[in-house]
Amino acid sequence: MEAIKKHAKVEKQLVSDAELQLINKQSMKELTADEVFTFRIAACDNQIDRENECFSNETLDGLAKLFVGRSMITDHNWKTEKQTARIYASEVETQGEVKRLILRAYMLRNDTTASTIEAIEGGILREVSVGCNVHKAICSICESDRKKVYCGHWPGREYEGKTCHITLDGAKDAYEVSFVAVPAQPGAGIIKQYGGKGEPQNEPPESDSEEMFKLAQAKQNQEEKRYGGI
Ligand SMILES: [Zn+2]
Repeated sequence: MEAIKKHAKVEKQLVSDAELQLINKQSMKELTADEVFTFRIAACDNQIDRENECFSNETLDGLAKLFVGRSMITDHNWKTEKQTARIYASEVETQGEVKRLILRAYMLRNDTTASTIEAIEGGILREVSVGCNVHKAICSICESDRKKVYCGHWPGREYEGKTCHITLDGAKDAYEVSFVAVPAQPGAGIIKQYGGKGEPQNEPPESDSEEMFKLAQAKQNQEEKRYGGI
């Protein structure tokens, strides 16, 4: 099972006393403002993204709770020495129709983290991948749960004037949050970061041939991998 990975951006966050109180819930010793570096991550939202997926509002609320305490790494390696930061707070911010999950992270200021902090402050490290999983993946056309059945609708395709998208519903788990190296060509490298799932999909053949059936099966296998299957 693979985590659903979403692209996110790092923003500035000042260390206030209120923030320090939240940070100190995560740390063993009492940390002072000088000892920590904090930043915000604009994570996933309820808008349809380039993978033709969106999160339901309730899912964002659920993920907000699940992400607190999760560690942040500088690559996709799970080794603990790669951990550089920890999520200490989260909330769902509303701007009109848009609801967005905001994660707040801290890291210790020391010789080991100095170069990472410098890279974040300098805008070099600012792309983030957020990993999570959900209970359901609902097709907007027929309301099938794609974790259980492949209904045949292609996200991004139009069906009788409606574009198919998948609503990721029900926060199941929050995994790692990791920094992604800034790609030479903006966009290209980030899509690769999703393991190719954001890459252009092959157009389905028009006929109901055996090839179509095989393609549907392959697609379902891919979706089971993506959405966790049953
Ligand atoms: Zn469908």
